[in-house]
Amino acid sequence: MNFLQTDIKFVPGVGPKRAEILNKELDVFTLGDLLRWYPYRYVDRSRMYYVHEIDGSMPFIQLKGKITAFETFGEGRKKRLIAHFNDGTGFIDLVWFQGVKYIEGKYKINQEYIVFGKPTLFNNRWNIAHPEMDAYMSEADRPEGLMAMYNTTEKMKNHYLNSKAMQNIIQNAFGMIKERLPESLSPDVVKEARLMAFHDAVENIHFPKNPILLRDAEFRLKFEELFYIQLNIVRYASDRKAKLNGFIFKNVGHYLNTFYKKHIPFELTNAQKRVIREIRKDTASGKQMNRLLQGDVGSGKTLVALMCMLIAMDNGFQACLMAPTEILASQHFETFSKLLSDMDVNVALLTGSTKKKERETIHAGLLSGDIHILIGTHALIEDVVQFQNLGFVVIDEQHRFGVAQRAKLWTKNDHPPHVLVMTATPIPRTLAMTVYGDLDVSVIDELPPGRKPIQTLHRFDKKRGALYQFIREQIHLGRQIYIVYPLIEESEKMDLKNLEDGFIHIKEVFPEFTVVKMHGRMKPAEKDEVMQQFVANEAQIMVSTTVIEVGVNVPNASVMVIESAQRFGLSQLHQLRGRVGRGADQSYCVLITPYELSSDTRKRMEIMTESNDGFVIAEADLKLRGPGDLEGTQQSGVPFNLHIADLVRDNAILFRAREIAEGIISNDPKLSQPEHLVLKQQLSRLGGNRYDWGRIG
Ligand code: ADP
Ligand code: MG
Repeated sequence: MNFLQTDIKFVPGVGPKRAEILNKELDVFTLGDLLRWYPYRYVDRSRMYYVHEIDGSMPFIQLKGKITAFETFGEGRKKRLIAHFNDGTGFIDLVWFQGVKYIEGKYKINQEYIVFGKPTLFNNRWNIAHPEMDAYMSEADRPEGLMAMYNTTEKMKNHYLNSKAMQNIIQNAFGMIKERLPESLSPDVVKEARLMAFHDAVENIHFPKNPILLRDAEFRLKFEELFYIQLNIVRYASDRKAKLNGFIFKNVGHYLNTFYKKHIPFELTNAQKRVIREIRKDTASGKQMNRLLQGDVGSGKTLVALMCMLIAMDNGFQACLMAPTEILASQHFETFSKLLSDMDVNVALLTGSTKKKERETIHAGLLSGDIHILIGTHALIEDVVQFQNLGFVVIDEQHRFGVAQRAKLWTKNDHPPHVLVMTATPIPRTLAMTVYGDLDVSVIDELPPGRKPIQTLHRFDKKRGALYQFIREQIHLGRQIYIVYPLIEESEKMDLKNLEDGFIHIKEVFPEFTVVKMHGRMKPAEKDEVMQQFVANEAQIMVSTTVIEVGVNVPNASVMVIESAQRFGLSQLHQLRGRVGRGADQSYCVLITPYELSSDTRKRMEIMTESNDGFVIAEADLKLRGPGDLEGTQQSGVPFNLHIADLVRDNAILFRAREIAEGIISNDPKLSQPEHLVLKQQLSRLGGNRYDWGRIG
């Protein structure tokens, strides 16, 4: 058996009880898992700090001094223990919320200790919560250099498994190692990426001999973590490409030519042309296409989708477009019907509210081939919906769809159709490589000409007078206004009430205009009616929840007011803002928040007022929130609780890892060379199948 598979209960200082806690809390079962439980920071032990120098920006520091007194506060579960600690330059409070008895018994008043922790200010006093403590040692005895600090959970702390204890356990684990740990990457990878050996990396990550070795160790371990994710994606993609034949669209014929010559309402942008070329190349290649089309709101993705569908028709195939909401599906249906009105193309709309009779007609039309293009919502993935010959699938605003739903579209023909996934939420490149790593990516990075950049303003909610005046002026210029309220499930009642109150208030402020409201709780028919009214400019102001967030296109609407903007994430704010600025007029987005804001929120408002670029915003979002919270990542199946790598900071390492993984797979697609055996083993150890989300495109 591999030494690294040894159960952690055999590590001195662990035993069955602590082993169970480590299993449960950290997912650490084996010695190998333990060695890969990396520190989250290091304390520089060469530097002793003084209480009088502490300021708000201190990292983890060490202090040397004595406890002068203990005090307890509160009762029962609320009980906490405070030790007053003095180092000769000032006092700081050491605070424990757990294990009060144990701590009181363990540490003595008036003895010298070295204390580690991050000082924070509470009630105007500096304190360190749950500090690590060492009995004082003379300078000569003290370990030098960098000391590793480990993350621990509340439960672990209750069983005295703090950072210090973890350090001891890991030290003991190292004591059990008799020979060098086996290399976990193949020699060619180690050589090409110039990596430190696995054994040395693990040793230096826990017990760094110096900062340079620590840096090399970190590089090696981050690389490895990202490399295996990429290797898996690249291997999977190459495997799929080798296996799946795609329909071949070799003709450009009647449909596209007629449309292009007679019906296209405007000159395509260069970016649109390029993307159509990319898609044409894919769909003529004999391989099945899985392509992600990213383009900022308003960049003209719909037209690209339509033209690709016409190419499918030119080759005898049907096409479908799936949208996340009924509103959006109807809007696409109308756009398509209008653009294709004089052509012999049959377009149908299928949503949840399509009547039974009509539904049956559509089902029949799809089977017979009478219907060329189907537009719809989730309704179109149901099993009863069968095509005569479906060749091209477009999924709009992809982040609203779950993985399983998309997978169903693959089964609508005997070969999977080509799939184009369109999203207006730009995804930072690092994330795209990880979440959509096996999709080819096309980008529309150019807006149609003549658009004026949207002006974004941030206003506090107490000052509405000027805003209302501004809205009035805009409406007198002939424009229309959106006012959006947040609505989330957890506080739905409250949110709906806010919307309702807002609606009544706005009607009072603007008696001369027609104000409508819309939210997800309304019946589809009602929503549709309201939307039609707004599109026809029979209503000037729409008060709504985020149901209008995705895709809706009313070029005459030029002002987007977002209430309680602090409650929205950056990507969502950007999406909402994209609902205006679609016509030739100057458009505005007004973010309304309370005066008191957290620093994160203030940052978000600043980014919004400063940038209109979806990619800039997506990068900022990734930085502020981390990848785990971004839309679409949860269902991606990629383990975003990376142990050591960081998709934001380590993007250079990620690109390198991808490059090397691609090289390996192109030379040895099945990883069958003997020196690659270790790669195969590691992939299966990491549960390679976990990442097979790529299947769904
Ligand atoms: P999105 O990429 O957000 O889905 P749409 O496809 O809805 O954007 O396009 C936004 C608007 O721009 C639509 O009104 C569309 O008709 C228009 N549009 C698309 N392509 C062009 C173009 N090449 N020139 C001018 N207007 C265009
Ligand atoms: Mg769109």
